[in-house]
Amino acid sequence: MVPGVSIDRTFTTWLDDVEDRRRAAGLRRELRPRTPGNALIDLASNDYLGLVRHPEVLHGAMTALRRWGAGATGSRLVTGSTTEHELLETELAEFVGAEAGLVFSSGYTANLGAVTALSGAGSLIVSDAGSHASLVDACRLSRARVAVAPHSDLDFVRSALATRPEERALVVTDSVFSADGDLAPLVDLHRVCRDHGAFLVVDEAHGVGVRGAGGRGLVHEVGLAGEPDIVVTATLSKSLASQGGAVLASEKVRAHLVDAARTFIFDTGLAPAAVGAARAALAVLRREPDRAESVLDRARDLARFTGAGTPESAVVSVILGDPQRAVDAAAACREQGLHVGCFRPPSVPEGTSRLRLTARATLDADELARIETVLTDVLTGASA
Ligand code: PMP
Repeated sequence: MVPGVSIDRTFTTWLDDVEDRRRAAGLRRELRPRTPGNALIDLASNDYLGLVRHPEVLHGAMTALRRWGAGATGSRLVTGSTTEHELLETELAEFVGAEAGLVFSSGYTANLGAVTALSGAGSLIVSDAGSHASLVDACRLSRARVAVAPHSDLDFVRSALATRPEERALVVTDSVFSADGDLAPLVDLHRVCRDHGAFLVVDEAHGVGVRGAGGRGLVHEVGLAGEPDIVVTATLSKSLASQGGAVLASEKVRAHLVDAARTFIFDTGLAPAAVGAARAALAVLRREPDRAESVLDRARDLARFTGAGTPESAVVSVILGDPQRAVDAAAACREQGLHVGCFRPPSVPEGTSRLRLTARATLDADELARIETVLTDVLTGASA
């Protein structure tokens, strides 16, 4: 202990100071728990297919809950694997066209596990500047040399791979970028990876359920499903209306992750109810593949109401620039019955604070009419 220094005062002063600075910059975040009976129209969640309360999804969760109990009881390698987990892995892999699947407790831990286990000291990771925070953290944890490529800059990726001294290299990217909803140039990226002996890790969190035939994801849509040097990561928490994550890749990669992915080995298995819900959601999507196209149709509606460019995914961003303007516009939407996302730095670059709207396949005509009225009103006010 440093003489004369009060730990309590040091931390209180520091916390007060950072809080004041965040408040002055319009960057404080507030937790607003949803309450039962909350009647806001949801334009903020990731329930893209509108399945989170679907009777079959609830039934899938309940059946698994009753059969296996509330928790997984242990890590996957000890007691936390059930036949339900294995069925989900097979079904997910088959759906996206991969050889094998491995379920993790979240999309975040799937990314951490896959990237760290496939890289390590003495390897190179090239990561797109727009990659999700979980891929960024995976790079940081990996001990690899990390090169951050300007967004969708193929020349940078090519040159980083071509000039590397390391033998092993990974390129990591979202397929659908979470903040802007734009798409990665996967075919070109894969070609560059092939030319230079690198693996391509693609986070399909926002791709599965939305892009590709019947929601099979962007990797499937562009004809790369099942390529041995592509590793797909996915979440069960968006289109699949549950919790959890997965890596969908070759059998060889799956076997390696079981042995080496720390977030697989040292984490408790995914709760059985979440597994059951995700399986049921996947079954609904397979039976009703039009839900994926409906998400894009509804996103086009949202873009029309807001003047945003043509959306390529469920995400429609309305850039307002200043964080306080975005906060005020989100509050005005809420007062008029719309729950919209509000993204500010560090989630997005400085000067690009925004309303982030997400489309849902099940938005009906009454909801769309109300959304158009409110957004027109709020955005006219915000630009005045
Ligand atoms: N990747 C992307 C692109 C995401 O948007 C998210 C969730 N926000 C994740 C990974 C993490 O997934 P999960 O919420 O299942 O941990």
